[in-house]
Amino acid sequence: MMKTLFLNPPSFDGFDGAAGARYQARREIRSFWFPTWLAQVAAMVPDSKLIDAPPAGLTLEDVLPQAADYEIAVLYTSSPSFESDARTAAALKEVNPKLKVGMVGAHVAVLAQESLEAAPAVDFVGRNEFDFTIKELCEGRPWDDIDGLSYRLNGTIHHNKERALISDMDELPFVIDVYKRDLKIEDYVIGEALYPYVSLYTGRGCRSRCTFCLWPQTIGGHKYRVRSAQHVVDEVKRGLEYFPQVREYFFDDDTLTDNIEHVEAIAKGLGPLGVTWSCNAKANVPYETLKILKDNGMRLMVVGYESGDQQILNNIKKGMKVDRMYRFAEDCHKLGLKVHGTFIVGLPGETKETIKQTIEFAKRVNPHTIQVSLPAAYPGTFLYNQAREEGWMRSEEGMVANAGFQVSSLSYPHLSEAEIFEAVDNFYKRFFFRPTKIAEIVGEMARDREVMKMRLKEGVEFMKFLFSREDKVAATPV
Ligand code: SF4
Repeated sequence: MMKTLFLNPPSFDGFDGAAGARYQARREIRSFWFPTWLAQVAAMVPDSKLIDAPPAGLTLEDVLPQAADYEIAVLYTSSPSFESDARTAAALKEVNPKLKVGMVGAHVAVLAQESLEAAPAVDFVGRNEFDFTIKELCEGRPWDDIDGLSYRLNGTIHHNKERALISDMDELPFVIDVYKRDLKIEDYVIGEALYPYVSLYTGRGCRSRCTFCLWPQTIGGHKYRVRSAQHVVDEVKRGLEYFPQVREYFFDDDTLTDNIEHVEAIAKGLGPLGVTWSCNAKANVPYETLKILKDNGMRLMVVGYESGDQQILNNIKKGMKVDRMYRFAEDCHKLGLKVHGTFIVGLPGETKETIKQTIEFAKRVNPHTIQVSLPAAYPGTFLYNQAREEGWMRSEEGMVANAGFQVSSLSYPHLSEAEIFEAVDNFYKRFFFRPTKIAEIVGEMARDREVMKMRLKEGVEFMKFLFSREDKVAATPV
């Protein structure tokens, strides 16, 4: 095996572009997802090292000296951070000209040719599901014999044939060993999970075809491939030994509840361990299943409601009825299950009226907390092609402003970028600044000191976010 460094490169202060982040920008409150995709491939390359620079607060100057110790560096990149990551690749190469530098992630999977042309210091790209592509490369296999690899040779760019998706997910080793070896788990925080938390995948892919959603349309695919429940439970057991301080396990599969048999089997394995856990879910889980999950330690679900308007849900191919979402929310309230509801303002078909309707919907289904995003049309998605054809694209590159905050990449003749941006703030204010919601959050803080510390810190960041809006709008796109 060649000596390999896996790097989530330094970026904006607080920028979360890690291989696991679903929201590649600074969030309104400081949040970091575990770099699970990079950790997964690092687990397959013995003696490798994973550096996740942004949560560790590492700058380029901190990382560069490491370049001398390795033969290969694999950088995780994303559309908003690509240019900055390309500069990091060049800087690593300057320190160690013999270093082979590669990139992975959805952006380079979709735009392999363009990325290699735009970043002369990058020698190779591992496209789509890159785990075994990178493993074979680190084993020293000839590059022309590695499926899924694009590379530069004598000034020419070559693209090998596609790699088949992994069918036996139990083949993948535990990421928890890499977390233990290379990460400080206290660096990772998301507002919706208890702190400290650990995030794992039990499978990849999502059966739904939401037009904006990056992962299933690029790396993960639309077939939900899962690990066996026992394999997942064994990894959590190891986590309990390594990290007794962890308060919650988050299963970051696109939609864990897409496979009812699988999620119920995992729940029944976790229940006896007394683990508190949470996951991503779609708002169509049957009541009986929700009850099994709740009875076996599930505390919270992150649910992509996106909009309260049926036409918008249809426009984005959400495959969901507003009535079903109401019923799901009622079931969750009845069982005492918490929901972190995620919404997007400015999707195709959005008007000022549908924004109002979605805010009213959010207040009625009343998730415990919410996240409101701007629309982001990433290359490789249906929405990206649609936005280009329809002339909705604000700028190809301008997904984040120069402070690292996301900006709307779409605008419409009847709804400007500034109006979409303002609607996000308004949404938050109208949802959170209600006496019942304030009382609920204060009550939760009073019951749990750790939650109190986290919410107070988040509260300060959130207020700064809301009241620095003019700066964010004025910021120049990178
Ligand atoms: S259900 Fe969620 S994860 Fe699946 S495609 Fe839609 S937004 Fe993406």
